[in-house]
Amino acid sequence: MAVETIQARSGDIFTTEDETLILNSINQWLDRDVRDKVLELEHADEYPHEMVEQMKALGLFGASISQAYGGLGLPSSTYAKIVTTISEVWMSLTGIFNSHLIMAAAVERFGTEEQKQRFLPRFATGELRGGLALTEPNCGTDLQAVRTRAVRDGDDYVINGTKTWISNGIEGGCVALLVKTDSEIQPRHKGMSLFLAEKGPGFSVGRKLEKLGYKGIDSAELIFDEYRIPADNLIGGEEGHGFHHTVGGLELGRINVAARGVGVANAALNDAVAYAQIRETMGKPIGQHQAIQTKLGDMATRCQAARLLVEDAAKAYDRGERCDMEAGMAKLFASEAAMENAAECMRIHGAYGYSKEYHVERYYRDAPLMCIGEGTNEMQRIIIARQMMERNPV
Ligand SMILES: Cc1cc2nc3c(=O)[nH]c(=O)nc-3n(C[C@H](O)[C@H](O)[C@H](O)COP(=O)(O)OP(=O)(O)OC[C@H]3O[C@@H](n4cnc5c(N)ncnc54)[C@H](O)[C@@H]3O)c2cc1C
Repeated sequence: MAVETIQARSGDIFTTEDETLILNSINQWLDRDVRDKVLELEHADEYPHEMVEQMKALGLFGASISQAYGGLGLPSSTYAKIVTTISEVWMSLTGIFNSHLIMAAAVERFGTEEQKQRFLPRFATGELRGGLALTEPNCGTDLQAVRTRAVRDGDDYVINGTKTWISNGIEGGCVALLVKTDSEIQPRHKGMSLFLAEKGPGFSVGRKLEKLGYKGIDSAELIFDEYRIPADNLIGGEEGHGFHHTVGGLELGRINVAARGVGVANAALNDAVAYAQIRETMGKPIGQHQAIQTKLGDMATRCQAARLLVEDAAKAYDRGERCDMEAGMAKLFASEAAMENAAECMRIHGAYGYSKEYHVERYYRDAPLMCIGEGTNEMQRIIIARQMMERNPV
């Protein structure tokens, strides 16, 4: 195959050969250190500390941070393939670096040079890890309704409020924290700011949240009680841009979630194709029955369509284009593909699909998260519709 050049949004340049080398080393790691341990860690809901150290060594915590700040500077098209590859084995692992890298992207795109120098190298090595703290008990979709307040006090801000469902909230040391710096101003988004909040006095974990799936990775409620943070940690240094900074990161976030969806959809397809060839009924493998073949045909088509949508959105992102519609389509389609493929894989496996000794029931529990996180699928449909009209005025 001809070697092609791929350019990341950061300007870092790669070739398709580099991409193959990276994906090969990820696959080797998955085969050597991950695959056989997934069932145990999943059912114990245990944080995979050892794998986190291995992910640090692989450079995953700096995957999309540009090389100038110590990262790998990967294009999002390559990054999406990594996310899909890992999600085929254990989707939870990708959550440990996905939202971490969205936090990093907010700093790299909107932070001051001082903030980039101070945070990005530590993010890139995984020494300082974290995620996004947007959602609150009273609001998720309607982020402009957040109630967490930051009030200026000399060279600091004092923050009070509660965030919930925060991935990496327990194991991470830092979050990109969305707050109100002005609760009166209209439109509401002008009163929002995004801070880089490192753990310290006044910033504590309320509780670990128990979940249907997405085991191993921590989801937490975070409490900010008279939490004092230097004004230098306000991303970009100016109040009122937090909503814009957050929404800017969601394009990449949606591509990540879509890539996870492709991974789970692929895993379900692969398991179903294998099982259909070994399980026999009525004297022949079930894969010889047309009722099973139509399922496999639909599953394979969904995987291919979802993969192409992710690739299309990631390439648009790498070109620096506005891609909320493309990312929304990829996220919507790939997450629903994961849901449908997981359910079909379970049906094909019969009772074994319901067993905790197989991976199938995990796909079934993991898939719905992709329909909720990074903007629900209901909202993706609305974003796509609005963009269709905006791009096609009459
Ligand atoms: C495992 C997990 C991990 C998460 N990780 C994080 C994280 O790291 N950081 C973080 O900040 N958040 C995180 N979240 C929260 C997630 O982003 C929110 O759950 C999501 O944004 C939806 O918000 P909500 O749950 O408050 O639902 P709501 O906003 O209350 O929505 C409820 C329902 O109403 C629909 N709806 C809402 N508004 C409209 C509208 N205008 N039109 C049509 N339908 C509408 C929604 O689609 C949904 O079906 C996580 C959630 C989970 C489950």
